[in-house]
Amino acid sequence: MPGWARRLRAAAAGSAPASWVRRSLSVRIAVSMTAAAAVILVLFAAVTSAQLRSSVFENRRDIILDDASLRFSTAQSAFDQSTASTTDQVQEAAREVIETARGSAAGAGAESVLLIRPPDSPDEFRINEIGSAAMRAVVTDDLREDVRSGDHAYWQSVRVPGDTDGEGEPGIAVGMMVSLPRAGDYEMYIVYSLQSEQTVIDMVMRVLGLGALPIIIALPTGVFWVLYHLLRPVRQTARAASELADGDLDTRVDAQGDDEMAQLGQAFNNMASSLQNKIAEYDELSRLQQRFVSDVSHELRTPLTTIRMAEDVIWEDRGSFGPATKRSAELLHEQVDRFESMLADLLEISRYDAQSALLDAESADLRAVVGKVVDANDELAATLGVEVRVEEPDQRCAAEVDVRRIERVLRNLLVNAVEHADGLPVVITVAASDTDVAVRVRDHGVGMSEQTIAHVFDRFFRADPARTRTTGGTGLGLSIAREDVALHHGVLEAWGELGVGSSFLVVVPRAAGDEVASRPLALWEEEA
Ligand code: ADP
Repeated sequence: MPGWARRLRAAAAGSAPASWVRRSLSVRIAVSMTAAAAVILVLFAAVTSAQLRSSVFENRRDIILDDASLRFSTAQSAFDQSTASTTDQVQEAAREVIETARGSAAGAGAESVLLIRPPDSPDEFRINEIGSAAMRAVVTDDLREDVRSGDHAYWQSVRVPGDTDGEGEPGIAVGMMVSLPRAGDYEMYIVYSLQSEQTVIDMVMRVLGLGALPIIIALPTGVFWVLYHLLRPVRQTARAASELADGDLDTRVDAQGDDEMAQLGQAFNNMASSLQNKIAEYDELSRLQQRFVSDVSHELRTPLTTIRMAEDVIWEDRGSFGPATKRSAELLHEQVDRFESMLADLLEISRYDAQSALLDAESADLRAVVGKVVDANDELAATLGVEVRVEEPDQRCAAEVDVRRIERVLRNLLVNAVEHADGLPVVITVAASDTDVAVRVRDHGVGMSEQTIAHVFDRFFRADPARTRTTGGTGLGLSIAREDVALHHGVLEAWGELGVGSSFLVVVPRAAGDEVASRPLALWEEEA
């Protein structure tokens, strides 16, 4: 099945006609053009029919009026020459004249000839009216009044009974007064049928209708077909654009020719190529940057080891120094510590960049890991006057984790929380489900803005670089934590509100290699 047919079928099966029309430009234009053509054809048919009717009708009416006046004058001469003197003779003469008139007018389409007595006719000499009751009913009172009041022929459009559908045929009734011997004036009417003209008009309209049918059928099909093919490059480009958005940077469209569609394709291809080049440039730049960080940190390791050794000697001997030199030794010790930890962070980041970080998983109780991290940072918490509370379940919260990495994650979260706690308590909550274990570190200090939350895991990000820090301060801690948690197939999330506090949640699967399947803890809970 060709592509267009498959699309049509899928569209027809999958959605209501309205959405089908909405989603396909080809269908929409085909439908609108057909609707416009149908309106034009209907108008054209109405105007043609009206014009045809009036010209055919006028032509025929003139012929009928000429014929009728001939019949009236012939009838009048026949009456004038009649020698009838009794009622029966006048009746017979009238019958003959009407019969003759009917015979001669039949050629012009006369259906019937009537002789009607006017209401004011004198009673003494009366003859019977001639003509069927059905035909008499065709002659209206208005026409009769006109005929009686004038001395020439009058006409009126009428419906002549006789056809099968009961509606009657179109026709013309023409009437004039005739003077009968002794009986006085009588109304004479000739009823002509226009059925043959009507048949011709009906046939012309049918032919027109049949002529319009192929237009109504062929137009939408043709327009749809042309547009479908014309819009193929647009569909291709749209498909290529979504492939590009999905990360397939090699995707291109077939853009041949010089028309607007080809220009669209070429423009897309140019855009895709320059995007690909830019991304390649950024990739290269990022690789260079990663290599630079890795090289520099590795290069710094050796001098730092030497500095550390020298500093260790100085540190050991600090008791024998004067106060100023002793203070310098302490400062040196602090900064070398800081230098070492920063270098360790950089080396760790380089390991992740080189994708050489490995998960050294072992079964451990998260409560024990939390306890160890809290103990190790007791001194910092005490210095900053922050109480660290641990809330944990009685049962084991065992999981297969890389203890060194999870310790590092928790240490980072705890140190951050304590440093940003503004002296208020920090609460660490441990929880477990059948499949996962979770630790939440919640502080009630400065909190974080939405913008900070959005970037808090970015490398070298620091919301407030000017803030006095006791440890760390490179802006690498949380980005390493994120990598550490990702290595466990876990989840690390942040919440914060300025002036209210922050909360960080770590969830890792109990079994190494599994994905996180539940949330034993909420990222943040409303507090009373
Ligand atoms: P570092 O602590 O070395 O600056 P991190 O990656 O650990 O780097 O943290 C990045 C930034 O996130 C911090 O500088 C701080 O602005 C913000 N941040 C982290 N934890 C908290 C917290 N508990 N409360 C407020 N801000 C925080």
